[in-house]
Amino acid sequence: MYKPSSQNHHRDLRHEVLAGKMIVKLHHIHKSMKKKPQSAQLPCYCESSKPYAACCKPLHEDELTTTAEQLMRSRYSAYVLGLEAYLLRTWHADTRPASLDLTNDAKTTRWIGLKVKCHEVLDSSTAIVEFIASYKLNGKAHKLHEISRFIKQNEQWLYIDGEIAD
Ligand SMILES: [Zn+2]
Repeated sequence: MYKPSSQNHHRDLRHEVLAGKMIVKLHHIHKSMKKKPQSAQLPCYCESSKPYAACCKPLHEDELTTTAEQLMRSRYSAYVLGLEAYLLRTWHADTRPASLDLTNDAKTTRWIGLKVKCHEVLDSSTAIVEFIASYKLNGKAHKLHEISRFIKQNEQWLYIDGEIAD
């Protein structure tokens, strides 16, 4: 039974107003999403085929890496993104350089791909990762084939050094 009453009418109006507000809100969210860079949704730079937000981004934001390969991948992504602080804090203190000149490097070097060939766990706190990183130096393509050594300290994997293969 439909019983028109002023109260019902009032409630309908309120719904309309609320719905209107909701639309305005959604419109704003949509607009801000459009404005934001979409990099977090894009495939990760390390070519894991996962989105950056679910791959290297949390690591760059201080989450601990669970494997040496994960650390290696996140360090490659950090090179792509120019995250010097991350590269330095995931480098073993004994072999870590004082600084990296990434801003200057970015003028000539562009990282274009990563292929992890082998990840070998030697024991609970040491591992090696063999990879090929592709880059362009002044527009010319090069490959860096490296076997890197990693050590786990205080629950975090750290890069020690690498040997150039080939
Ligand atoms: Zn990644």
